[in-house]
Amino acid sequence: MNLIRSDLLELNAYSSDHYSSIEDKLDANEVAVDLPLFLKQKLGDELTNYLSANRYPDGLYLNLRRKIAAYAGVSDDWISIGNGSDELIRSVLIASCLSRGDILVANPTFSMYQILAKTLGIAVHSIDRGEEDFTIDLAKAQQTIDRENIKALFVVHPNSPTGNLLTEDEINWLKSLSRDILVVIDEAYYEFAGHSLVSELPKHPNWLIFRTFSKAWRLAAFRLGYAIAAPELVNILEKVRLPYNLPTITALAGELVLEHRSDILSIIPEIQTERAKLWQFLQGLPQIKVWKSDANFIYFRSPNDRLLQQDLAKQGTLIRLTGGGLRVTIGTSEQNQRTIDRIKNQLVL
Ligand SMILES: *Cc1c(COP(=O)(O)O)cnc(C)c1O
Repeated sequence: MNLIRSDLLELNAYSSDHYSSIEDKLDANEVAVDLPLFLKQKLGDELTNYLSANRYPDGLYLNLRRKIAAYAGVSDDWISIGNGSDELIRSVLIASCLSRGDILVANPTFSMYQILAKTLGIAVHSIDRGEEDFTIDLAKAQQTIDRENIKALFVVHPNSPTGNLLTEDEINWLKSLSRDILVVIDEAYYEFAGHSLVSELPKHPNWLIFRTFSKAWRLAAFRLGYAIAAPELVNILEKVRLPYNLPTITALAGELVLEHRSDILSIIPEIQTERAKLWQFLQGLPQIKVWKSDANFIYFRSPNDRLLQQDLAKQGTLIRLTGGGLRVTIGTSEQNQRTIDRIKNQLVL
């Protein structure tokens, strides 16, 4: 295949498990409950009565950006929108690293940074997180920055798959970095954690925060993410963004959930209560090591993670084998009870 870059031939695409009959899909950190029916109906009504399918979307997505800005507590020109955060990751890589420099990540973490960097021929430097609490080895991170040509670094707050928030030391280190390094803080799980670094953005013009509508907002099917940053950076992202990157219906869906915020986000306390229950169960198993989580999933390790993952899938619960452990999404109360029962079956307690 001489017509394709050889580094791409070796690259594995992002993959998610596919099983034909899964009762409880708890592998992708979606909220387990669909959008309320009245909101689906409103969206259907927009599609039927108002949306002109023959017309391009509003290329600036002004209404949506205005509503997102109000929600995030910034002005409109601090928001850029993406076809999922994945598109924003790629835009950032194009803007900061392409043909110019490398990225830094701390593993285990979200794999898309690495995958998308490689598709663009951008080198990835990864440092390990401590096994006890998954904090970043900051001395190593600093050494890597001093030695290599790092143009951007990606952290998740709280991290996926391990569920931990950035520590104060880590945040202080990010603040200490040269303004020539782009710092991406992915707050995909913000609504579950309640912690954000948005208020720091005015002091750090090299920082960018990503958020998504795929998790707490229950719009994974629509593909919508956004970046929050100083207008100088937002303007750059706007240059890289494909024209009409969001379907009109996706923009409308985003506006709709923001208008009905409490109907959507009111489920979060239940998810947090369920998270505590599942954590308590896992914590009580001598064969399992489990970590605290600020997101809508829990990370744990067992004597044989692959076997446990496969066995749970056979029993009807799909969880994700990733980062040298297992990540289970918090589902409905019934789903979580089945997770507990199925883990008990497998471990023969
Ligand atoms: C799920 C997730 C996202 C969401 O990506 P989209 O492309 O918006 O669906 C982003 N970052 C992290 C760390 C995630 O876990």
